[in-house]
Amino acid sequence: MPEVRVLRQYCKGCGLCVAVCPVHCLRMSDEVTPGGVQPAEVVETVDCTGCLRCHTVCPDAAIEVYE
Ligand code: SF4
Ligand code: SF4
Repeated sequence: MPEVRVLRQYCKGCGLCVAVCPVHCLRMSDEVTPGGVQPAEVVETVDCTGCLRCHTVCPDAAIEVYE
């Protein structure tokens, strides 16, 4: 199962990764960072296929996917 990591310090909360994941591994956090951003977070990666769409779509290189 791939490991998906959101690098909160780079996330600007645009939500593109959440929208693009076909198996709903990601969501927007309820928390707001000190910088005023509501970042993406990983829900569950059990269905993650490692397709890299989240990584590819992120404009700020804030998502890493490891096999
Ligand atoms: S790699 Fe693909 S399936 Fe896995 S979290 Fe990213 S978009 Fe979703
Ligand atoms: S696409 Fe990148 S910047 Fe946008 S919410 Fe997802 S991790 Fe954050």
